[in-house]
Amino acid sequence: MNKIHCKHHPTAPASWTCDQCGTDLCSSCIKHDYLPDKVAVCPVCDQNLRSLGSENLIQPFWLRIPRFFLFPLNISSLLYIGALSLVSIITFQPSLIGLLFQLAIFLVFLKYAYAVLAQRAAGYESPPEINADMINQGLDLPFKQLGIFLLIGFIGGAVYRNTGPVAAYVYDIIINLFIPATVMVLAIDNSFFRAINPILLFSIIRRMGLPYLILCIFLLILQGGGGLVMSLFGRPESFLAALFIFNIFSMYFLLIMFNMMGYAIYQHHEALGYPIEIEPDEQTRKTNQESTKQYVGMPNDIEVLIKEGQIAKVVGRLKALIKTQPGEISTHRLLHKLAMMANDTVAVLDNGESLISKLIERNYTGEAASVIVDIMTLQSSFQIGNADLIYPLARQLVSTGKGQHALDIINGYAQRFPQHPDIPRLYLLAAKILCETLKKDNRAKGLLVNLLKTYPKHELAPEIASYLEVVNRLSTSH
Ligand SMILES: [Zn+2]
Ligand SMILES: [Zn+2]
Repeated sequence: MNKIHCKHHPTAPASWTCDQCGTDLCSSCIKHDYLPDKVAVCPVCDQNLRSLGSENLIQPFWLRIPRFFLFPLNISSLLYIGALSLVSIITFQPSLIGLLFQLAIFLVFLKYAYAVLAQRAAGYESPPEINADMINQGLDLPFKQLGIFLLIGFIGGAVYRNTGPVAAYVYDIIINLFIPATVMVLAIDNSFFRAINPILLFSIIRRMGLPYLILCIFLLILQGGGGLVMSLFGRPESFLAALFIFNIFSMYFLLIMFNMMGYAIYQHHEALGYPIEIEPDEQTRKTNQESTKQYVGMPNDIEVLIKEGQIAKVVGRLKALIKTQPGEISTHRLLHKLAMMANDTVAVLDNGESLISKLIERNYTGEAASVIVDIMTLQSSFQIGNADLIYPLARQLVSTGKGQHALDIINGYAQRFPQHPDIPRLYLLAAKILCETLKKDNRAKGLLVNLLKTYPKHELAPEIASYLEVVNRLSTSH
């Protein structure tokens, strides 16, 4: 019963294992998020994964005993126990009617215990709400349980009378082994006859295996709990005080037992075929996604593939992802980073312009400039197709001392985009780079003269003219 943990989240229990590559994965590591049929697929080798079963995800009940003892100490359960115990001593009479009243109180409480069991079996940690529905609906359940106890007692009596005390003792042990199963079947199916069907009961015990036996032992110990506590109180003064204390503690222990049986159903719900409402790995998934995710906004399997060093595969996944969700800047960013790592020139070039455009849109011009530098080291002749991106990029490159790169992206702009309004400021920038960084005054001069000729009335014309004067003065002083 050793737990298997996720390879990439060592504290999280694994939900799946891959028979192909042997990787164990939690649900925040698999890529069912884009598979409509929700088949869990191995992110590494694309094989269907095998479920490790809920037993691997849910802590066994024997590791959380203190929590069972604390469970009935919530306000609503305590009030319910207190109120019923009070009604019990108020209505107590040593007559048949009085005894029937006590039985009715017990059945009302048993109904509540079943609600606790069902709530816990579905996966909820909180106690069920006490309202009219809870009290009125399914009132047959405690009567069926009472019927089963009467039947057990009747058969026990017959065994004792016909075969003697030893056989009756053996019968008692066997029955005690079957009682938790009958309670669970009654809670699941609400059927008297299924709850006493030995074949069905035996199949439940077999499916749960050893944990069922452990459950039985715990329940037997708890059964004696009420009486044990009573003996600690010594002999109370009045009978009613003793009854009150006994009621409170037997109800307390009954809730622990029913909560524990509910939890056992939850733990083994897959083997028992019981539908639950709270998925056991929901919590794991949430904590993993919030706290340990390095690539926020990325599908789970991408992170796994990166950790596994399968960069080329991630690049392929990211490309596919961009086609389905073109707006996500994070996908383009990661694709750039990984394609650079993998020396995948085609992917870098294909992704380059959309990434730069998204970065400039969001004013990350510094990052955009370093992306274009990356691209140009792979292919110096790379040309950006969107004319609007070039001026902000070139200006950023100049400010970080990458004048030559700026010139390279400006090169041929006027021929490619002859009508673009950025031409004057771009070529003024180019002239400044030529003159100030590369000391090519004559080429700068040529650009400026040309600009003045083509844009004599442009708002930048005075600035271009005065810069031309500066260049002229500089070149004569050289
Ligand atoms: Zn695999
Ligand atoms: Zn994981």
